This record gives sequence, C-alpha cells and structure tokens, in this order.
Amino acid sequence: MTAIAPTQPSPLTAERTVQTTCAYCGVGCQLQLHIKDNVVFRTDAPFNAPPNYGKLCVKGRFGHDYLWHPDRLTTPLIRRNGQLEPASWDEALSLVAERLSTIKAESGPDSIALLCSAKCTNEENYLMQKLARQVIGTHNIDHCARL
Ligand code: SF4
Repeated sequence: MTAIAPTQPSPLTAERTVQTTCAYCGVGCQLQLHIKDNVVFRTDAPFNAPPNYGKLCVKGRFGHDYLWHPDRLTTPLIRRNGQLEPASWDEALSLVAERLSTIKAESGPDSIALLCSAKCTNEENYLMQKLARQVIGTHNIDHCARL
C-alpha cells in the first residue's frame, strides 16, 4: 500500500495540541485536542494511553462543538426579580446551601432529591451520595443513566 502525500499544507495546522479526558461519560477516554485560534478543530486519541488506546466513540470524536457555542454557560446564574443574572460560584453555592437548609427545616430531608450525572467522575458521584445521605439525610439520590 502506497501512502498518498498531501498536495498542499493543511490550513488547519494545530498551534497546540492538548491531551485531556473526555467529559461525556465515566469511561474516561484520553483525547488529543488540536487547537488553532483558540478553537478545537480536530479531536483524536493517543494510541499509547489507556483506557481507549487510540479509539473514541462518536461523542468523544465529534461532539465538541459545544465548547465554543454561544449558549454555553460559563458562569453560574441566579434568578433575581425574574431575570437570570451572572453570579460567582461562592454566591451560587451559598444560595443553594441556604435554600436546601430551609427546605429541609420546613419539610424534612426526604423532600429533597439529588440527581447525579454520567459526565461526573466516580469520585464526584460518590461525594454526591455522601452529601445526600450524610449531610441532607435522604436516600433520594439517583443517576441520569437510569432516566
Ligand atoms: S469517547 Fe465515548 S466512551 Fe470514551 S469517555 Fe468519551 S463518551 Fe465515553
């Protein structure tokens, strides 16, 4: 088999390549993001890195245009007077803690349910069930893979 050489250089030659972990599911495949002008224009996988050794499913290979989508949330939002407004993580987390405490005091721990995500790591999901059971005091904890 003869390799075919490109007739001209690609206009999309990466300025940098970043190795990272796919955020779509808990398998944790390794990705290489090829970046130019701060845009990921191609994604593939390193052949020498577990667990995927160069392979990717369709989401990991092609599903990264959300990175620069204008609707992507890049900061927490808090609804004030009916309008969603940008807030800091400290503000947002304090508000959630305050509201959960109020709901628990008024209606009991089983009035609260938590839903985890396959996009979180095992460790994050473990901590979420600890928050549900040990801090809030409810077994109402589930996972998006069951929906
Ligand atoms: S490439 Fe596919 S299988 Fe691998 S972590 Fe991403 S979503 Fe999961």
